[in-house]
This record gives sequence, structure tokens and C-alpha cells, in this order.
Amino acid sequence: MHELSLADSMVQEIEAIMEKEGAEKVFSVTVKMGRLSGVEKEPFEFAFPIVAEGTKLEKSKLIIEESPVIVKCKDCMTETVLETPFAKCGNCGSRNVDYISGKEFLIKSLEIE
Ligand SMILES: [Zn+2]
Repeated sequence: MHELSLADSMVQEIEAIMEKEGAEKVFSVTVKMGRLSGVEKEPFEFAFPIVAEGTKLEKSKLIIEESPVIVKCKDCMTETVLETPFAKCGNCGSRNVDYISGKEFLIKSLEIE
């Protein structure tokens, strides 16, 4: 399960931040997860407490914010929130678009003590 190794590297990353900040406890971790990030929400929620066990992140709360998939049209500069996997401008129908949201997977914030 690829979410398990992702959760594992995230826990390591947070532990490194905690060390730097001199933090002892993490109350909550907020993760931003794009719908196209390739990470599944449920398996990640399942994996996180498993890898957090025995670390300073044990019992910390995981909050996942799913971000929508947004593209920006290079022809008419309109931003479109995609409801389908097909990247297309909602204004002019062009396929000449850039992803500006939806592929990210990152730690948005940490509540530490
Ligand atoms: Zn357009």
C-alpha cells in the first residue's frame, strides 16, 4: 500500500520539524490533498495512526483537506473547477490548460506544543 510509505515519510518529516522547533507534542496535522495527487484519502487515514504509533505523533489528529482540481486556460485565462477527469476550459472549451490546483499533497499546517 503506497499510502503507508507516504504516511511514513510524512511522519518523519514532521518529526524533523518538531526537533527543529523543540516541540514535544502534535495536536493536529492538516494535510492538503489534491484530488489528482494519486493519494487515496481513506487508506491514508488508515495508515497514518499505524505509522504514528510509538512516535511523537502518536494520538495526533489528522485533518485532510481535499482540494479541488482547478485548471487555468492558456487561451482565455479563465479558471475552471473540474468535475470530470477531462481537463478542459469551462469557458471556451480549450484543452490548452494548466493545472493550478489538485495535484498537490503536502502538510498545510501543524498544531504543535
Ligand atoms: Zn478558455
